[in-house]
Amino acid sequence: MHLFIAQFVDTVTQGIIPDGGVLVDVNGMIQAINTSNFFEINHPELFLEAKKYTGIIVPGFVNVHCHIELSHLKNKIPQGGGLNLFLANLEQHRKDDNETIISAAKEALFEMEKEGIVAVGDICNSTIVAKILSHTNLYIHHFSEAYAIDATKAEAAFAKAKTTYDVFDGDRKSIVPHSPYSVSNLLMDKISEHNIKFQEITCIHNQETEGENEMYVSKTGETIERLQMWGLNLSSFNPTGKHALYNFLPKLAKAKHVLMVHNTFTTKEDIIWAMENFDNVFWCFCVRANLFIENKIPPIELFLACDDKICIGTDSLASNQSLSIIKEMKEIQDYLLEKGVKESSIILLQMLLKWATINGAKYLCIDKTMGSIEVGKRPGLCLLENIGENFLITNDTYIRRLI
Ligand SMILES: [Zn+2]
Repeated sequence: MHLFIAQFVDTVTQGIIPDGGVLVDVNGMIQAINTSNFFEINHPELFLEAKKYTGIIVPGFVNVHCHIELSHLKNKIPQGGGLNLFLANLEQHRKDDNETIISAAKEALFEMEKEGIVAVGDICNSTIVAKILSHTNLYIHHFSEAYAIDATKAEAAFAKAKTTYDVFDGDRKSIVPHSPYSVSNLLMDKISEHNIKFQEITCIHNQETEGENEMYVSKTGETIERLQMWGLNLSSFNPTGKHALYNFLPKLAKAKHVLMVHNTFTTKEDIIWAMENFDNVFWCFCVRANLFIENKIPPIELFLACDDKICIGTDSLASNQSLSIIKEMKEIQDYLLEKGVKESSIILLQMLLKWATINGAKYLCIDKTMGSIEVGKRPGLCLLENIGENFLITNDTYIRRLI
C-alpha cells in the first residue's frame, strides 16, 4: 500500500478534495480517497511514510489522437504552410529507414509516459511500427486508416488497412476512414459494414480545412484542386451541397463511438445537427497541431454545450513539438479565456481535466478502469505542479508522474 498526499486531489468525477490523499495498492489500484486528516487518524503508519506534495493529484491523461508512426518527422516539416504543403512534405520525408522510424516511435512512447499519459488512440498504418507498439506500459487502441477517394480503389484500400489491422492481437483495434476528402462513399460503406460486424469505435479527421467544406458543398476549392493535382480519379465524387459530416455520419451511425478529429472549420449548425442525431459522436481537439499546420484554432467555444463529449489529442510529432496533454490544455485554456469564457479558472481547469481524462477514457471504452480517481480503478496518478494563481495553467506548469 502507498499513500499520496497533496494540496488538492482532483478525482475528476467526484470533485476536488483539498488537502487530500489517495491510497493505492502495489498494482496501482485505488483503495481509498479521503482527506489527509482521515488518513492521519485511520492509517497513522501510512500517513507518516507518505510523501506530501505541493500541487494537484490528477488521474493519468488519455491522448485520443496520435500518430506514433510519424514521430521520426519531428522538426522536419516547416510550420504554418497549410495542410496542402504539410501533406506534400509528409510524403517527401516519409521514407526514412526502419531503424530511425522505430527508435523515434519508442522515444515518443517514453515521452508520453513521462508526460502522464496512460492511454492513447493511435493511428497506425505501418506494419513496421505496429510490431513495437505491444511493448509498452501505455494502453493503446490501434486505428488502421483506409483511404482512396477513387471508388474503383475501395476494395484494395480496405484490404491494405486490414493488413495492418491484422498485425494487432486482441480487440483494441479498428479500421477507420482517414478523412472525408480521402474516402469514397463505397469505401465508407465497406468500413461501415466492418463496424457493424465488430462493433468497433472509429475516428475520422474532420473539417481540418475550409477546402474540405467547399469540396463537399460544390466540388471546388483548394482540397479538390490538390486531389486533381495529384492526378486522382475524382469521377466518382459528387458534391452534396452540405458539409461532409452530413454524408458520412449516417454511415458511421452503428459504430460504437465516432471521434471527430480537428473540427477547425466546423460550424455551430454542424455541431447541433451531429449532437441531435448521433449519440455516439465525440469531438477531439489537437490545437497545437492546428496552430502548426493552419495557424488556426478550432471554434472550441461553440462546443461547450457538449463538453461531456470533448477529448484532447496531441496529433503527431510531424505537426507538434511535443506529445504533451498539459501543453494542449494550456493552449485551449488561453484560447477560451481570450474568447471571454466566463467560468472561474478553477472550473475551467476542472473542465479541461475532464476532457483530458474521463472523456477520452469513455471514448476508448476504458472508463471502468481509467480516466478518474475512484476506488477500484487503476487510472495512474500524476501531480500537476507549479499551477499558477487562481488555478491557471502557465508555461511553468508541469506534470510529474507519481505512478
Ligand atoms: Zn491525425
